[in-house]
Amino acid sequence: MHAVIVGNGIAGVAAARHVRKGDPGARVTMISDETADPFSRTALMYVYMGVLARAHTHLYERRFWDENRIDRVLDRALALDPAARVLTLHEGGAVPYDRLLVATGSLPALPDWPGRDLDGVQGLYHLADLDRMEAAAPGAAPDPAVVVGGGLIGVELAEMLRTRGAAVTFLVREERYLPRVFSASESALVAAEVRRHGVDLRLGTKVERMEGAGHVEAVVTSRGERHPARFVGVGTGVRPNVAWLAGSGVEVGRGVLVDRTLATSAPGVWAAGDCAELRDPPDGVRPREPIWYTARLQGATAALGMLGRPRVYAPGVFYNSAKFFDLEYQVYGRTEPAPPDSTGGADWEWTDGARHLRLHHEGGAVRGVSALSVRLRQDVCTRWIAEGWTLEAALADLGAARFDAELSRPLGV
Ligand SMILES: Cc1cc2nc3c(=O)[nH]c(=O)nc-3n(C[C@H](O)[C@H](O)[C@H](O)COP(=O)(O)OP(=O)(O)OC[C@H]3O[C@@H](n4cnc5c(N)ncnc54)[C@H](O)[C@@H]3O)c2cc1C
Repeated sequence: MHAVIVGNGIAGVAAARHVRKGDPGARVTMISDETADPFSRTALMYVYMGVLARAHTHLYERRFWDENRIDRVLDRALALDPAARVLTLHEGGAVPYDRLLVATGSLPALPDWPGRDLDGVQGLYHLADLDRMEAAAPGAAPDPAVVVGGGLIGVELAEMLRTRGAAVTFLVREERYLPRVFSASESALVAAEVRRHGVDLRLGTKVERMEGAGHVEAVVTSRGERHPARFVGVGTGVRPNVAWLAGSGVEVGRGVLVDRTLATSAPGVWAAGDCAELRDPPDGVRPREPIWYTARLQGATAALGMLGRPRVYAPGVFYNSAKFFDLEYQVYGRTEPAPPDSTGGADWEWTDGARHLRLHHEGGAVRGVSALSVRLRQDVCTRWIAEGWTLEAALADLGAARFDAELSRPLGV
C-alpha cells in the first residue's frame, strides 16, 4: 500500500506515524511545499524572539524519518485525480497512490482593505512569513509597527515585535478583547496585560485602508486616525488551504468536506486538520477547528481509515492552551460567556486582578472551564465536564484540579 500524505504539519505527521505503526509494510510518502523537516508552527514566535533556533522547532530528529521509513518530499501538489489515484506534483510529476490524505492546513485570511498588497503588510502562518518579518529589519524590528486583529496570532505578533523593541499599535475591531471567547473581566485582564507590555492597544477600531507608495507607510482607521507603520502584521484569521483541489471532484465547502471518519467524497482520499470541514459534526464539535490538538487527533483518526480500519473522530472534551504575553490560558469544554439576559447558562468567576478562573455552567452542570494564569489538571477538568459535575461539587474539588498548588499562591476561593 502506498500512502501519500500532502502536508507535513501536525495532521500530516500524526497520520504518517499512525500509518507506519499500523502497517509496517506500507510505503509512506509525506509531501510539503514548505520544508522537508516538519516543525512546530506554534513555536514560530519563539524563533523570532531568539528563544529557540529553527532546528529546535523540528518535531523529530531527522533520523526518525529514516528509521520509520517515511519518505519526505519537498514539492508542491498541483492537482489530484481520485479516479486514476494519481497526484501531480510541480516538480516531481505524477505520483500514483493507493490512499491519500489531504492535510494542507490554512492560509492567512487578509480582509480586502485598500493597500493590503503593499510591501510590509503580511500575516503570520508559514516559515516564509517569518523570513519576511526578519527581512523587514534583520536582527531588529520594523519600527513603528501596527498589528491588526484581536485573535491569538495578533497578540503573538505584538509580543514578537515588542520583544525586539518596536513601538506597536494594536488595532482590534471589537469593543473588548475576544468577546465571543472571554467574559468582560477576562477581556479586561488580557487587555491590561497587553498594555502592561507597552503595546498601544486600540479597541473598537477598524482598519479603513493602508497607505504607502510601494511600501506601507501608515494605517488609517475608521476613527480617522493615521498610524505610521513600517510593518503591518495581520492576524485576522485563517482560511482552509484547499484551492489546489479545484477540478479534482473532491467536495469542498469552506474546507475539504469529510464524514466523521475523515473520509472525503472521493474514494481513497481522506482529509484532516485545518483544511478539513466536518459535514455532520458530533454534538458540541465545530465543523472546523483550526488548532493544533484537533489537527493531531484528526491526522491519527484519518490514518486508521487509510489502513482500512475506520474510526469515528471523537475529540472528547475540548481543550486548548495559549499565552497572552505572560498570561497563561487554558480552556476546557464550552465556555462561551453567558449573555446577561440568557437562560442558556451562567458563569461563576473568580479573580485577584492577576489571575482569573471561570466555570461556565448550564442546567446544573459544569460545561466549561476557562483559566488565566491558573494552571489546572486536564484530567480533573475533563472529568467535571464529561460527568456533568455540579458547580458546587467542582468548586469543592478545585484543590485536586490545581496543577502546581504546592508552588503557587492559594486562590482564596
Ligand atoms: C503563529 C501561529 C501560532 C499558533 N499557535 C497555536 C496555539 O498556541 N495553539 C493551537 O492549538 N494552535 C495554534 N496555531 C494553529 C496550529 O498551528 C494549526 O492549527 C496547526 O498547525 C494545523 O496543522 P495542519 O497539519 O492542519 O496544517 P499546517 O500546519 O498548516 O500544515 C500544512 C502543510 O501543508 C503544506 N501544503 C499546503 N499546500 C500544499 C501543497 N499544495 N503541496 C504541498 N504542501 C502543501 C503547507 O505548506 C504546510 O506545511 C498557531 C498557528 C500559527 C500560524
